[in-house]
Amino acid sequence: SLQCGIIGLPNVGKSTLFNCLSNAKAQAANFPFCTIEPNIGVITVPDERLNKLAELVHPQKIVPTTIEIVDIAGLVKGASKGEGLGNKFLSHIRETDAIIHVLRCFDDENVSHMDGVVDPVRDKEIVDTELLLKDLETIESRINKVEKQAKTGGEKDAKVAFEVYRKIKESLLRGEPARTVNFETKDEEKIAHDLFLLTAKPVLYVCNVDESAAITGNAYVDTFKKAVENENAEVLVVAAKIESEIAELDTYEDRQLFLSELGLEESGVNRLIKAAYRLLNLQTFFTAGPQEVRAWTFHKGWKAPQCAGVIHSDFEKGFIRAEVIKYDDYIAYKSETAVKEAGKMYIEGKDYIVEDGDVMHFRFNV
Ligand code: GDP
Repeated sequence: SLQCGIIGLPNVGKSTLFNCLSNAKAQAANFPFCTIEPNIGVITVPDERLNKLAELVHPQKIVPTTIEIVDIAGLVKGASKGEGLGNKFLSHIRETDAIIHVLRCFDDENVSHMDGVVDPVRDKEIVDTELLLKDLETIESRINKVEKQAKTGGEKDAKVAFEVYRKIKESLLRGEPARTVNFETKDEEKIAHDLFLLTAKPVLYVCNVDESAAITGNAYVDTFKKAVENENAEVLVVAAKIESEIAELDTYEDRQLFLSELGLEESGVNRLIKAAYRLLNLQTFFTAGPQEVRAWTFHKGWKAPQCAGVIHSDFEKGFIRAEVIKYDDYIAYKSETAVKEAGKMYIEGKDYIVEDGDVMHFRFNV
């Protein structure tokens, strides 16, 4: 399952945000969350289409798709040199697919803070620097390994790799994350990807504000947005503390009431899950039968066999073809049979690029 890591300096509200997410089960029906380790939660992705399909199919089970959220504590200045939880912390980040970077944008004398001054831009730079330094260390050790081969001219692969590493290193030395480096070929992209660099991961910023700033944001948020405007990254404003309290209220009506008193239509948690899904470049296909109607997550651009592999690796290995119904056709014609009769079920081969919302039926050899 795909994983988002929550990172940030101490006392910025990471655990509070994680608690909001873990209480999200309470936010809406059909929204389960389970904690599989103290700091890892599995959260379901809200999707109206799943319920609409289920209303037509009446399955025994409805299974939403999920992503995992990990609360990664312990990043401090000097982590790349082993301070704090240091390397252990960084290796946790390495395993994630995307990063949710939480910034403290609230004042509170009772919550201690680095240097005693709230400054989200500085905080972000401290975190980024640690990640950059770690990546630089990774890239330098890789360069040492291939440099000789590349320069003596023998191995073509070594040459290509060397070029990729050199490009990334230059970017890091300029203080720019690996995610900003563009590559010309798929080969180069793969070499870069296989480094699992920390600064190559897509990032989403969460400005954690007081309840009074839940809608409007505040001066900290404005400054922060300005500082990251060239990054093309999403910045969400979330009032984690009040939302974590709201999440604990017993009834759905109470929670909605409190949210709307804050001026919020949708909880920060919901917005965060949706943003994370976009960030990860994820889409959803469905399978629909009397046993279950189910949502499955895949990467935008994946072809039919890869998507079949999400269900089971055998489906990918023995892939023959896919029968595809567009979600809108399913809803319009109301049953698989009616769709077929209307000539709207498409038979697709191994090069078919699956689209968000496709209802798939895979044919395969065992
Ligand atoms: P972490 O170290 O980043 O995980 O930070 P925590 O989530 O443990 O939060 C640190 C402290 O800040 C806790 O006492 C929280 O209750 C408090 N806190 C978190 N968010 C807010 C907020 O929006 N406003 C205020 N005043 N306090 C907050």
